[in-house]
Amino acid sequence: MRKTAALIRAEAERIMALGESSPRIARDPVNLPIIENWVEAIGDTNPVYTDAGFAAASAHGGLVAPPAMTQVWTMAGQRRSSDASDPTSQMVAVLEEAGYTSVVATNSDHVFRRYVRLGERLSLRVSLADLIGPKQTALGEGWFFTTRNTWYSGGEIVATMDFRILKFRPPAAGEGRRASTVPQAKVPPATPRSATAPDAGAVIRPVVSPDTRFFWDGMLVRELRIQRCCECGTLRHPPGPMCPECGGFRGVDPPGRQGGGFSACARQAAADCDRAGRARRGRPRARRDDGSQPGRGQDRHASADRVLAGR
Ligand SMILES: [Zn+2]
Repeated sequence: MRKTAALIRAEAERIMALGESSPRIARDPVNLPIIENWVEAIGDTNPVYTDAGFAAASAHGGLVAPPAMTQVWTMAGQRRSSDASDPTSQMVAVLEEAGYTSVVATNSDHVFRRYVRLGERLSLRVSLADLIGPKQTALGEGWFFTTRNTWYSGGEIVATMDFRILKFRPPAAGEGRRASTVPQAKVPPATPRSATAPDAGAVIRPVVSPDTRFFWDGMLVRELRIQRCCECGTLRHPPGPMCPECGGFRGVDPPGRQGGGFSACARQAAADCDRAGRARRGRPRARRDDGSQPGRGQDRHASADRVLAGR
């Protein structure tokens, strides 16, 4: 293992020494139609991006592109050709060769040096900036590496983005979820494994966060735990920090916590299931105390012996 780590570091130093990749030239110059689509999708109504008259009278003296869409101009498209000089691909290949086959983006830092104007044609160069590892994470052992993305207009740098990802070795099938605080329950697989099914360790499992931990812990003890908003009383699933109905943040405490929004009011749905027949066993339907069903298919993918709807 130590030898593998040394080899990975040596490869990273070699890739860093290569410096910036060859430039990826934007397919099109900065242009209004793409800007219009982007600001519509984002919901940015600032007229300095779309109204030529307004922009002419502004500090910019003319239309400019939203800085946050810098990356858009040099995107590779659906049929990208491989670039051997790309340090991201090289570093990914090194880590995958060593067994770190899964990936998750962790964070990015942006610097915008100036606005870009219609007609400018940007280019992107990428370099490997940093490699840290191996680290033990909730997802498994992995390496963090950062690429520096630099956008040029001609020879001038207009923006940079440091993009960090974690390449990790997924836990082998049966290793269980490290992040859980509840012992792994013996839950039979929902369907028999087929010969062509991917290895359970080769797929990215859902990430357990402070907002969703209560739900996954419930799954391990065969409980379907459903949140109820303390502000408006709406049941909601999948779990999240904010109520989509009223925007409230209260009522998201884990079940059983004193004074929290969950205080574990149990609905014993297993008995209902048994009455409904064996075919539905293990897929209880959540019901409110008045007998109505929660909305938006809240229980459709549940496999649990009982349902806890928060109060
Ligand atoms: Zn609410």
